[in-house]
Amino acid sequence: MSAPARVCGVCGTPARAPFRAPQPEIAPDLDMRPGEPARSTLADWIQTCRGCSAAAPDLAALPPDARAVVESPAYRALTTDGLEETLPFRRWALLCRAAGDHAAEAEALLQAAWAADDAAAMSAAAALRKEVVRLWADPAEEETALRQLDALRRAGEFDAAAARATALAHRDLSETAQSILRFQQARIAARDTGRHLISSALPPPAHAPHVSHGKRASTGFWHRLFRR
Ligand SMILES: [Zn+2]
Repeated sequence: MSAPARVCGVCGTPARAPFRAPQPEIAPDLDMRPGEPARSTLADWIQTCRGCSAAAPDLAALPPDARAVVESPAYRALTTDGLEETLPFRRWALLCRAAGDHAAEAEALLQAAWAADDAAAMSAAAALRKEVVRLWADPAEEETALRQLDALRRAGEFDAAAARATALAHRDLSETAQSILRFQQARIAARDTGRHLISSALPPPAHAPHVSHGKRASTGFWHRLFRR
C-alpha cells in the first residue's frame, strides 16, 4: 500500500513530508540553535508551497482558513520587505501570529535571525532578534529568559541586556542557569555580539562528560540541563 498523498492544507498542491533534522552532535548555541549536523540544515526546516506560497514545517498541517493569511497584502509584502534567506521563516511566523501562537511566531523569527546570521546580514539579524525579544515579553521560564537575554546581547542591545541580566540574577535560578547568566554578563560587559556554544558557559565538571557523549546531545538533552 502506498502512503496517502500529502498535500498543502491551503491549496491541495502536493507537499513533501516534514523535514527531520539529524541529531545534533555538537552543543547548541546559547539561544538553543542546535549544533551540527542539524545546524546547517536550517534552510530545509520550512517548506514553501509552490502552488500558493504558504510556508510551514508541515504544509499538510495548515488549516484551510490559512488561505486568508497567505492571500493577504501583509503576507505578499514579506517577499519584498526583507532578506530572501529569511522569507520562509517570516512567512511561517505571520501564519503563527494569525493563529494566535506567539511562542511559535517567536521561534520562527529566531530561526529567521539564524538564516540572516548565515547570510552575514547583521542588521537584519539584529532587527529580527529585537522582534523575538518583544514577543517573549517577560518570560517566566528560565530557559526562555536566558534565550531572550542572548537575543538582546546578539542584537547589540547591551544596556537592555545588562538590565535584564541584573533582574534575572535576583531570581531563584538553577545552577546551570546561574552559570549561563554569569557567562552572558561577561560577554555583555565585553560588548560581544558573537555566538557562543552553551557548553562554553557551563563549568567543566558539568559539561565535560557530555562531550564524550556528544552523539546523544539532542536538544532534549540540553533542555533537561535546565531542570533542577
Ligand atoms: Zn499551497
